[in-house]
Amino acid sequence: MSYIKIDQDKCKSCYLCIDACPFKLIKKSNNTGSTGELTVEFSDSENKCVGCAQCAIVCPEIAITEVNRE
Ligand code: SF4
Ligand code: SF4
Repeated sequence: MSYIKIDQDKCKSCYLCIDACPFKLIKKSNNTGSTGELTVEFSDSENKCVGCAQCAIVCPEIAITEVNRE
């Protein structure tokens, strides 16, 4: 089971990671970030994340701090 961690304090709500994930595992959260927009969260109830790091690669803020591959 792979997973990622998203640093809510660094997220600038550009949503590039939402489009980047092939399995649509990142969605808007209920938290308002520093830009006044909602930050994003990782949601993977079916364990689909493959640790491909596409989400981390596209993030301009380096807010996706850890990609664990298993
Ligand atoms: S590592 Fe890959 S599969 Fe996992 S959340 Fe990021 S883009 Fe999606
Ligand atoms: S790509 Fe980075 S800054 Fe943009 S929404 Fe995703 S985590 Fe936030």
